Amino acid sequence: TPHLQINDLRVAIDDKQILKGLNLEIKGGEVHAIMGPNGTGKSTLASSIMGHPKYTVTGGSVILDGEDVLDMEVDERARKGLFLAMQYPSEISGVTNADFLRSAINARQEEGKEISLIKFIRQMDKQMEALEMDSSFSQRYVNEGFSGGEKKRNEILQMSMIKPRIAILDEIDSGLDIDALKVVARGVNELRSPEMGVLMITHYQRLLNYIKPDFIHVMMQGRIVKSGGPELALKLEENGYDWIKEELGIQD
Ligand code: ADP
Ligand code: MG
Ligand code: MG
Repeated sequence: TPHLQINDLRVAIDDKQILKGLNLEIKGGEVHAIMGPNGTGKSTLASSIMGHPKYTVTGGSVILDGEDVLDMEVDERARKGLFLAMQYPSEISGVTNADFLRSAINARQEEGKEISLIKFIRQMDKQMEALEMDSSFSQRYVNEGFSGGEKKRNEILQMSMIKPRIAILDEIDSGLDIDALKVVARGVNELRSPEMGVLMITHYQRLLNYIKPDFIHVMMQGRIVKSGGPELALKLEENGYDWIKEELGIQD
């Protein structure tokens, strides 16, 4: 089963240190939630694991199934089974959703074991239906002209088709109304299995009512400062983050 181990990760943007020694371990079947105030480095963590060139790793390691992915290009990390649903998904003009997905799936297959067109279409239709997406989306350019909610559904569609070993969902709940949130959450819940670990980043406890995490981590100032079970999210919803700051003597 999948195993991701982040050890003392330090990341800078330009000359500004954002992640300051972050540790986290995720195994197959587990759902971890990272919560924390805005600007604390959550998206930086997600993008650094995936290998976005904007971020400079200044220390630490990210080990997926025994291999340090920090030496790998983005597409190699994807082939190893890392997946990121971005907070702000980008548009890919001129590439249809269907073509994009089929390439992404086939990139993870061994030579000669590519998915057949018929099987692919059948799977894609099924997943799109489950996510209540109109079938026209398969022939539209990736995210072009999609509403916020449609982009988020599309990220989950990609996840359901690509079947990553470790899925990172960055604010998959942002900009969703309650009905869309339920659809997206159901999509994620149906994919939960021992073959996948999930790292779910969210600003709001609301998402955790629909996707129940096994572990909750609070991130502040570039580190995980507190970890616990689901009860921690409720405490955060009631009391905000100030009590943790006080506990830790953090000023801002
Ligand atoms: P979060 O996702 O927790 O809201 P981010 O990881 O997006 O936080 O941002 C962490 C910090 O990095 C913030 O202080 C933010 O202003 C800074 N930051 C993010 N992107 C850039 C950038 N392109 N250039 C400079 N600073 C950035
Ligand atoms: Mg933010
Ligand atoms: Mg963010």
